[in-house]
Amino acid sequence: MLIKGNCHCGNIAFELEWEGDPVEIPARACDCSFCVKHGGVWTSNPSSRLAVAIRDTKLVSKYSFGTGTATFHICSRCGAVPLVTSEIANHLYAVVNVNVFENVDQSLLRHATATFEGEDIEARLTRRSRNWIAHVRIAEGGA
Ligand SMILES: [Zn+2]
Repeated sequence: MLIKGNCHCGNIAFELEWEGDPVEIPARACDCSFCVKHGGVWTSNPSSRLAVAIRDTKLVSKYSFGTGTATFHICSRCGAVPLVTSEIANHLYAVVNVNVFENVDQSLLRHATATFEGEDIEARLTRRSRNWIAHVRIAEGGA
């Protein structure tokens, strides 16, 4: 299925090609200090493909903390956080926020909590390179 998502004002939009017709989509409420404050609930699928379109890059705030290995892409106009990226060995991985989905029936979302506290950097990057979306394209400008 083709999942469409965007921030509230539409500055950051994405299309996520999810193989087949999923009967459920994992939705992980992360308990890190950032996601608790923002209510971030993330999903990914290593075989899916993500195309991100950013209209005005000046209105995107990129934020990292802690290990500095993940970048939160925050729309500075409307405050939504549609995606997180992580560059591992020169390859860009991403997860997307199910709260910005536009065309997904809520009943498809399998909500769970996630704790990555105590994970060392190596384990963290290995997990991301295994589970995060591995095909990520970000187009800037236009529209
Ligand atoms: Zn926005």
